[in-house]
Amino acid sequence: MLTKKLTQLEMWEKLNKLSIKAKNKGEIPVSAIVLNDQKEIIAQAFNKNDRTNKVSDHAEIIALNKAGRKLKTWKLIDCTLLVTLEPCVMCFGAILNSRVKNVYFMLKTDKGISSLNLFNELKTKTHLKNFSAVNNLQTAISKKIIKDFFNDLRKGK
Ligand SMILES: [Zn+2]
Repeated sequence: MLTKKLTQLEMWEKLNKLSIKAKNKGEIPVSAIVLNDQKEIIAQAFNKNDRTNKVSDHAEIIALNKAGRKLKTWKLIDCTLLVTLEPCVMCFGAILNSRVKNVYFMLKTDKGISSLNLFNELKTKTHLKNFSAVNNLQTAISKKIIKDFFNDLRKGK
């Protein structure tokens, strides 16, 4: 457990730092943090499926699993998930199963199926109360980290 509580903005900053860590390891720079009902960080993770070759090793699922181990339950009731990028459909399924209460992300995806649209269709039937994009001082930084990653990839760096 952390002794010092981070502000919302500090948490997003921490996520961007985690994303840079992922990028430096050659992973798609996406990261996630799970907060308990006291708003303390209980788990953090970044994508690592390119290293592990496991399809489910997205930041969100790794963080949810870590939080479950810490709380000794997979039912993460009253927990909040912060993630840099709008979760994919696989992660959205795990999010629904985990019963977290809130999910916030900085960047909306422009690829594939939008989990935000799925949430809007399903919201009355789930434990998930909030699923939305936030825009803060770290959002532009997050966008740049991902953009640079894919630019470098195209250039073959
Ligand atoms: Zn995912």
